Amino acid sequence: MKVLAVTSEIYPLIKTGGLADVAGALPLALARQGVRVRSLVPGYPAVLGALEKARPLHEYEALHGGKARLLEARAGKLELFVIDAPHLYRRKGNPYVDEQGGDWKDNALRFGALAKVAAEIGSGLVPGYQPALVHAHDWQAGLTPAYLRGGPPTVITVHNLAFQGLFPSMLAEALDLPPEIRTMEGVEFHGRIGFLKAGLFFADAITTVSPTYAAEICTPEEGMGLDGLLRARARVLSGICNGIDTNVWSPRKDPHIAACFGVDELDLKAANKAALREKLGLEARPDVPIFGVISRLTEQKGIDLIASVLPDLVERGAQFALLGAGDQRLEARLREAASRYRGEVALFTGYDEALAHMIQAGSDALLMPSRFEPCGLTQLAALRYGTLPIVSRVGGLADTVIDANEAGLSAGVATGFQFTPVREAAFRRTLERALVLWQDKKSWRRLQQNAMRSRVGWGTAAKLYASLFRAVVKRVGDRSVTGARREASRDASAPKMRAAPLREIGKPSGSKISKP
Ligand code: ADP
Repeated sequence: MKVLAVTSEIYPLIKTGGLADVAGALPLALARQGVRVRSLVPGYPAVLGALEKARPLHEYEALHGGKARLLEARAGKLELFVIDAPHLYRRKGNPYVDEQGGDWKDNALRFGALAKVAAEIGSGLVPGYQPALVHAHDWQAGLTPAYLRGGPPTVITVHNLAFQGLFPSMLAEALDLPPEIRTMEGVEFHGRIGFLKAGLFFADAITTVSPTYAAEICTPEEGMGLDGLLRARARVLSGICNGIDTNVWSPRKDPHIAACFGVDELDLKAANKAALREKLGLEARPDVPIFGVISRLTEQKGIDLIASVLPDLVERGAQFALLGAGDQRLEARLREAASRYRGEVALFTGYDEALAHMIQAGSDALLMPSRFEPCGLTQLAALRYGTLPIVSRVGGLADTVIDANEAGLSAGVATGFQFTPVREAAFRRTLERALVLWQDKKSWRRLQQNAMRSRVGWGTAAKLYASLFRAVVKRVGDRSVTGARREASRDASAPKMRAAPLREIGKPSGSKISKP
């Protein structure tokens, strides 16, 4: 089965977050399930610079205001379509924001173009290439299902509902959105155009990156204004947990760590702990635990809770290895703790891949008290390294860590610690629980072994995506054969709306674009 993935980031070419990891890993894992993925990505400088065997497939006289080419290329094992549109994408640095940190003013057109080209490929733009399904990621690809009504089936995956791609409604014309879908039963979201909303409305199936997050986003508390729509579409909404690259995150062969180790060599963690202490200037006290943190420093990640509990834990003898960057106020709070407890609390601000590996290898436990967490990857790496995750029971954290409560311990399946609600008191109680268990070396060791044996690779996710894709193709295919209609909420309008845009999509989209 051929699948066209549509994504604004793809590891290792361009990455700002977990989306890139998923978009980069899933094609390789799906290949083993008989699904051949080709990914459409914007031609940022970092992408164009990494292409091998690039070949032009199509030229646009005017794609949202400038000349553009669609390229076919490879980058390592990734098979790509790339939009080479210098006026939209040839900008250095972060794909979404300018050097001052503000969104690029033309993001609607930049990512509208991504979706538009995706829809054209889905509708047969490239001779000899017809995907059975189009898989859109996040708001940047959100308009794809809207443009593709009536084309091949579409799935949209939400990596973080907090980012929705909202733009002024006056851009509808420039984005080639036909009038009949500029409504609530379409792309409109509270008077604006909602890219993610459009994707959630029109896609044949919606996935998000964990089953618990899938349930959470249907509630008013966590639904970020989209919960009503998500509840209406609950029948086609599901959650599939991400994996991590188990070649990159492998304690057996990690080039960044002092001593590689397997599940039966946990004593070697002591060497990694010593190396971490030395690297970060922590006192050499082998008899106390190290709590690691590797995180964007934001409220979402509960960094303020870590800052609040830290003094007491240091008083109790624990040490901290903190790595992260982000919110200035949170950074300042942690910096203050690091200077007050010099030798016991170490903070490294910035992004440092090698240090992230050292912290995973050298810590006893990893703290992740997130307020919400669509999936989370850091706790998966922690499990692999026998570093027990201490996490809030939300989103993907709830789905990937088994709490060391009595049931978990007596069944011999626990892999870490969970707390709820996401408040300081519950966090403290759970840290206390972890400190007590840490003293019991035998039990702690058993937890570490369970953790290291957890399946955190992409195998399971790839199987689930492959069967979902096949089910969607079957369902939507059956619908077109029998004339059965789209789901109840859209039955009346769907067939009528489907015919029109396809004819438009066959044309190069630039030809009738006017500037906003
Ligand atoms: P996010 O919400 O930031 O995507 P995830 O847990 O899903 O959180 O993924 C974070 C990824 O980024 C992990 O692989 C983690 O190791 C890495 N990471 C986060 N902050 C840093 C940092 N300061 N330095 C190095 N790696 C980091």
